[in-house]
Amino acid sequence: MITAERKPLEEIIEYVRPFGKILLVGCNECVTVCSAGGRKEVGLLSSALQMAFMKEGKMLEIKEMTLERQCDPEYVEELSGHINQVDAVLSMACGCGVQEIAQRYREKPVFPAVNTKFMGASERQGVWSERCQGCGNCLLGLTGGICPVARCSKRLLNGPCGGSTKGKCEINPEIDCAWQLIWDRLKALGQEERYSDIIPAKDWRPSRDGGPRKIIREDLAS
Ligand code: SF4
Ligand code: SF4
Repeated sequence: MITAERKPLEEIIEYVRPFGKILLVGCNECVTVCSAGGRKEVGLLSSALQMAFMKEGKMLEIKEMTLERQCDPEYVEELSGHINQVDAVLSMACGCGVQEIAQRYREKPVFPAVNTKFMGASERQGVWSERCQGCGNCLLGLTGGICPVARCSKRLLNGPCGGSTKGKCEINPEIDCAWQLIWDRLKALGQEERYSDIIPAKDWRPSRDGGPRKIIREDLAS
């Protein structure tokens, strides 16, 4: 899933300060799962903003909505009956959702209330870790299902770098060395010999370095 964290309240306040009435929009997908921008967080942020402005003697009217998916035009259309009644939109979705609203409602200012972080997985309650950088040409079949692009601090495709200590990364001792994890996994699979296979230089053209990407499925496209 895409992970996100709510922006500091002070930053959000400055975005909405010029306005009298805003639409605060959450999303029911990834940001709900990582507790950053779902219905509950919309309610909490709404209360926090109203309290902050009341302390300043200012009124801010907030209409709250949470869409099924903010990155999907079908659901973003649901805002059309409300958008003209507000001065601005504050989105609690990832950057994809914010941009979808900005594209559909060009005349309305739209601001992000969360910082979009990475594609990750839940490690345990309240902890999410980066797992994939969407490189466009997945290598997991070569590395025992552990991603060296996202999980090695140096993005080494043929590691380790030699700096790891007791299985931890030399760049950040808080995290496991990705190449230690790859070794452990290959060993568990009984495929230790694959550790010495050289992974060829990666073709980065399908990654973000080639500019914004698109997936076009001819069988689905209209
Ligand atoms: S190799 Fe690329 S696509 Fe596969 S998990 Fe890593 S970053 Fe994601
Ligand atoms: S210690 Fe491991 S994870 Fe850290 S940079 Fe070196 S090979 Fe990559």
